Amino acid sequence: MMPEMDGQPVIAGAGLAGIMAALSMGRPCILLSSGLLGRDTASSLAQGGIAAAMSAVDSPELHAEDTLIAGAGLCDPDVVRAITLCAPGAIEELLALGVPFDRNAQGDLDLHLEAAHRRARIVHARGDGSGAAIMHTLIAQVLNAPYVTVVECAVLEHVQTQGGKVSGVVVRHDGVSHVLRTNACVIASGGIGGLYEETTSPAPVAGGGLSVAARAGARLIDLEFVQFHPTSLVTKTPGRRPLVSEAVRGSGALLIDETGARFTDELAPRDQVARAIAAHIAAGHETFLDAREAIGKSFPTRFPAIALACHNAGIDPVTMPIPVHPAVHYHMGGIETDLSGRTSIPGLWACGEAACTGLHGANRLASNSLLEAFVMGRAVGRDISGFTVQAPPERLAPALVAYGDYRHILGTYAGILRDAQGLTRGLELLTPHIGHDGSALVGALVCHAALHRQESRGAHYRRDFTRTDANATRYAFTLADVFSDMPSLEKVFS
Ligand SMILES: Cc1cc2nc3c(=O)[nH]c(=O)nc-3n(C[C@H](O)[C@H](O)[C@H](O)COP(=O)(O)OP(=O)(O)OC[C@H]3O[C@@H](n4cnc5c(N)ncnc54)[C@H](O)[C@@H]3O)c2cc1C
Repeated sequence: MMPEMDGQPVIAGAGLAGIMAALSMGRPCILLSSGLLGRDTASSLAQGGIAAAMSAVDSPELHAEDTLIAGAGLCDPDVVRAITLCAPGAIEELLALGVPFDRNAQGDLDLHLEAAHRRARIVHARGDGSGAAIMHTLIAQVLNAPYVTVVECAVLEHVQTQGGKVSGVVVRHDGVSHVLRTNACVIASGGIGGLYEETTSPAPVAGGGLSVAARAGARLIDLEFVQFHPTSLVTKTPGRRPLVSEAVRGSGALLIDETGARFTDELAPRDQVARAIAAHIAAGHETFLDAREAIGKSFPTRFPAIALACHNAGIDPVTMPIPVHPAVHYHMGGIETDLSGRTSIPGLWACGEAACTGLHGANRLASNSLLEAFVMGRAVGRDISGFTVQAPPERLAPALVAYGDYRHILGTYAGILRDAQGLTRGLELLTPHIGHDGSALVGALVCHAALHRQESRGAHYRRDFTRTDANATRYAFTLADVFSDMPSLEKVFS
């Protein structure tokens, strides 16, 4: 990393949100990719596609209504209306950039129907390879944009503020920490799946940017809302779990246990199915998705990517039940932003899954997250294009932050089924590490927010508070707020 990079906006994370921010800025900027460009992003793995009201029988208003229902009362309605209204234009823009969205025999966009959408509105590419197709097109654009400097194998470690504004960042590149002087930083580091043992996300997508923002004093919101996908493939190797998509259950596959008995309604909403599987596992059972009768021999042609993942795990879905577990799939909460992606700290923007605009509320409607990553990445880029970016005079001392492995703690105590005893235990185990470890800090903040929400709503289920509280509101806080509630935590930092 070169001194001449001082004075440019730094974008941390090169998924869909970060790439759109860089492309939309139209000015010199630095895009940090945690690995090789295009690798280790949730964006490249997205299967279903992007939600947008594109048909004559659909409208952004209906899309907004479905989003609000899924969000279980905690969406920001203005944000929902604004983002769903942008969706058809976003698809047109992606088409103009060259994304090869699939078309039907008439040449119109082929629209899929997904759970909780009342209209077919999922625009997809290359069957279940939507994310990869979108990223392939945008990566080509970003590599051709002369104003974007891509730095691979580089992660944001620290955001420094002076007088409450961003004054510099510390970036770890190839194992060495570098200081960059800038008053503009974008956090586009994705979700927190990598903090859990069972996740559909790549391991580096582990809340890194969220911990940096928390330390810098940014307001965080809705952290307790973690969405679990009910059916990820159980593999013998640790780490990311391949998704066995809802379409398999939609095609009639049954959820059974080791005795062959069914134990839940396969077509219930995603969070209910995830809870039913988690409860059955907690009661000592093994859980499988049985597609033998409903799909049978057509499985490899109808679901080629899933069939391949099954074969890699030694499972033939035509003749064997597929072993499945719930896995963390999406984080609704994150760094609080407005519709320009501005956070509570001047000079710090956030977009994509790391951010929380209020679009998703307590539960994300399927295929709304790529939409949000595109729309908000673009909004951030446009906002920064009108911002005076400078190199503040002070140089920073590189920060020493570790990222330990606390996956077992989070999976056990802040998983699908939660209660005060478990969340308190999780907090106790993580607290000693939060002063120096970014993973422990984010994990502790998720436990803190989940303890604070004494109700069950959307993706957040408390065994000790099973009802929804009609008066409950969104919970936003900074690290300083947590310290004033729990002074014992602050001591760990000092
Ligand atoms: C298997 C799977 C299928 C999905 N299918 C769909 C779908 O069909 N439709 C849909 O709408 N959504 C889907 N989602 C969700 C969607 O893919 C994500 O929400 C979205 O892609 C997030 O984009 P992003 O740019 O915010 O983050 P990402 O694409 O995850 O990119 C973030 C990048 O930032 C990096 N990073 C982390 N920390 C740092 C740091 N400190 N510094 C620098 N970089 C950092 C990460 O390693 C990662 O490379 C799916 C998710 C998964 C996992």
